[in-house]
Amino acid sequence: MCGIIAYLGKKPAQPVLIEGLKRLEYRGYDSAGVALLGSGAIRVQKTGGRISALEQILDEPNAAETFGIGHTRWATHGEPNTVNAHPHLDFTGKIAVVHNGIIENYGTLKTWLQSEGTEFASETDTEVITALIGYFYAKCNENEGQLNGQNKFEWAVQQALREVHGTFGLAIVCSDFPDMLIGAKKGSPLILGVGDNEYILASDAAAIVEHTQQAIYLSDNEMVTIGPDGFHTKTIDNVTVSKDLTEIEFSLEQIELGGFEHHMLKEIFEQPKALQTCMGGRIDRQNHRIKLGGIGSYLRALTRTKRLILTACGTAFHAGLVGEFLFEQLARIPAETEYASEFRYRNPIIEDGTVVIAISQSGETLDTFAAVQEAKQRGATVLGIVNVVGSSIARETDAGIYLHAGPEIGVASTKAFTGQVAVLTMLAIELGRRRHISSDQADKHVDELAQIPDKINTILTQSERIKEIAAANIDKDNWLFLGRGFNYPVALEGALKLKEISYIHAEGLPAAEMKHGPIALIADGMPAVFVATAGPQYEKIMGNIAEVKARGGRIIVVATEGDENIRAHADHLITIPDAPEHLQPMLTVVPLQLLAYHAAVLRGQDVDKPRNLAKSVTVE
Ligand code: GLU
Repeated sequence: MCGIIAYLGKKPAQPVLIEGLKRLEYRGYDSAGVALLGSGAIRVQKTGGRISALEQILDEPNAAETFGIGHTRWATHGEPNTVNAHPHLDFTGKIAVVHNGIIENYGTLKTWLQSEGTEFASETDTEVITALIGYFYAKCNENEGQLNGQNKFEWAVQQALREVHGTFGLAIVCSDFPDMLIGAKKGSPLILGVGDNEYILASDAAAIVEHTQQAIYLSDNEMVTIGPDGFHTKTIDNVTVSKDLTEIEFSLEQIELGGFEHHMLKEIFEQPKALQTCMGGRIDRQNHRIKLGGIGSYLRALTRTKRLILTACGTAFHAGLVGEFLFEQLARIPAETEYASEFRYRNPIIEDGTVVIAISQSGETLDTFAAVQEAKQRGATVLGIVNVVGSSIARETDAGIYLHAGPEIGVASTKAFTGQVAVLTMLAIELGRRRHISSDQADKHVDELAQIPDKINTILTQSERIKEIAAANIDKDNWLFLGRGFNYPVALEGALKLKEISYIHAEGLPAAEMKHGPIALIADGMPAVFVATAGPQYEKIMGNIAEVKARGGRIIVVATEGDENIRAHADHLITIPDAPEHLQPMLTVVPLQLLAYHAAVLRGQDVDKPRNLAKSVTVE
């Protein structure tokens, strides 16, 4: 969470940093600040609130200040106010730091630094790093012998970083070196954009692409020092590492609103295209096969696997639940889905032949990353399903499959969910084909899968109707989402979407569970959203609808086109084109995404920046 940015070049830095922070704002938005160099002392401007609040207090850009760092925060330690906002300065005012992550041993370090006479201004863990760098920098003169000709500033950063436990993406400046920027990474993403006589260091390529497509992706425990003679990468232990320049895969256009009011709405509407890109080139109709190049050498291990564990958080966890059903039904492989945060602390049993699949849009979700490390340590083959190319999980897993869904900026995940389910479906079909299904059956599955993008298009045409349904129920503060079978995870996802952006309380449940407790909640007019599409459990869910109706609930139904029978039971009806049950989640989730979106807009909420949340959860 949180976005960091640094600019070192020829342009006035302030507008570049602010523009970059706006592109990173989806990562965190409770306070923000910049520190600028070029006119003597480091000049810090920061405030609680959003980037727009920071803009209100900024001085006019100074053309001499062509170097600076910036931050948009998602607070972990210390409330979101001006003092706790980044950048933080050390006690001499010479060193400034922006940080993404958590310093776990900050308490011990702080006590020790205080005993050495350091005073602290903020409650943040970040200020401890700043103070520690300042401490070692002050010690440099006494330790000249140990420097071996190394630059003092870089040496002090390395000494400090060897003391800290936890995660960091850092940009650090020192006014004694007004043309030197240091970046360091452990557990939080950090990318250096290399432009024409300019450098942009940022948490996310979104802040880089308008300047350059050329970038290097730092790995954990690496740092980069950028100075007048270019950039050098090394480990925090001062061992030189050479890094290749890579092309950033997406363009500026992809991260702009393109006429939509919100990124979330744009991303909902992008789903047909995103799925086409995700599946294009992977579906081999001639040979009735799915080609998944990224995991090619692991396909045999997967085919023989005795047990699959899918691990993820949030929306990706719901995609994992759909995956569990898919692997069992299409490939006949025992599968289970685990919250990554639970998996890593639960002493999980990994037997011979267990394959773990980690799912994360950003590829930076810290809980999922830690689960990957845990599974690897226990000897599992670990595969990743991620969207962001080159992200930490993509690099940490043995192999993986990218979604190729394009950048997802809306904090509430939408196209990543359908992309994750599409990847899991392709994998389940291919494993099914290898294990037991005939080429004809596989061909049929592939055929039906290929039709999903067009079917989503027809659902999107109902957006206005779905808005009316949201409007008719907008005064209700408690909603239920109910589904069975493959649509049970969709019910969970529908409830999550509504909660996270509209702040309406919602619960998602397997419909049959309702009578074991939650039915007590049903009172006059409580909206209950049923996913009641054609499938083996249709009759059962009709029974559940009747039970809610009898108790005064208001019935919103997602049903299959042509189902006339259901009309009489529904207060509001949304339809999806017919599809086999195992492919329905990619369709049934779309109206629920739209329902949540419209409800949030109608309630006047900030859809792309919901309260207390941030994209890419890089803290535990
Ligand atoms: N732990 C730091 C803080 O609370 C950084 C949090 C972040 O990554 O946004 O200020």
